[in-house]
Amino acid sequence: MSVLVLSTNPANPELDNDLVNQVKSDIGGQLNWLQQDVACELIQIKAKDGLETAQTAFANHAVDVNLVEDQKRRKRLLIADMDSTMINEECIDELGDALGIKAEIAEITARAMRGELDFEAALNARVKLLKGLPLDRIKEVRREQISYAPGGRVLVQTMRAYGAYTALVSGGFTLFADYFAKRIGFDEATANILEFEDDILTGTVARPIVGQDTKLEKLHGLAKAHKLDLSQTMAVGDGANDLKMIKAAGMGVAIHAKPVVAAEAQYCFNHSDLTGLLFLQGFADEDFIR
Ligand SMILES: [Mg+2]
Repeated sequence: MSVLVLSTNPANPELDNDLVNQVKSDIGGQLNWLQQDVACELIQIKAKDGLETAQTAFANHAVDVNLVEDQKRRKRLLIADMDSTMINEECIDELGDALGIKAEIAEITARAMRGELDFEAALNARVKLLKGLPLDRIKEVRREQISYAPGGRVLVQTMRAYGAYTALVSGGFTLFADYFAKRIGFDEATANILEFEDDILTGTVARPIVGQDTKLEKLHGLAKAHKLDLSQTMAVGDGANDLKMIKAAGMGVAIHAKPVVAAEAQYCFNHSDLTGLLFLQGFADEDFIR
């Protein structure tokens, strides 16, 4: 059976009770609020076109509409992208800012994340532009210019408390991924290694580069290591280099994603924060580990 999940941004909840009840009467099912005014689910919906009906009803509202299977909803493995997913920024753009070339770097980043450029070539080109940046300055950027995406820590802590293994897999850099993974609470992190000489960036990254295939391999490798079927896994990201892992995971989620990613992901959040991934799995806010 299918469960319809409706969710909105907890910072600005817009889940209208009257509209929810209207959709319920249109498509049938049992209403269960997961967080008042923020998220609810309709269990055992009757209408075959329940997803489309709800999407139409909420088309002019900041509400995400997703349809999940009620079997094996709680996932045992989470693989997450970092930049613009678990943190709000693109680290490489912020490093560009430190050299006064943010616009130049950010344009390449945006094109790569939309899938218009080869990921590795785009990474090499941007890192080359960062040559000469001192390690101390990178640490300063990390300390002062990066912010956590809302709901990320709750997502990771809650999934871990319910037995899931969690991994951050980033096409960015270990200097950021290791640092933020530890603070968010991930079990492990994988990312690219920037190369230095006397604590000055050489403008190169170590090989092999962590790209979309690495993310997919990580999903398969960790599922195997933890003896999980792919149906028990969840992946989340926003960029073109996340699409392979998103499409392969049991629950693949695009969050505030580039159009090419949102179009192809099975589950999509344009408004909700990262706690939306917990609502998909049937967790209510009283289950959250904060
Ligand atoms: Mg990203």
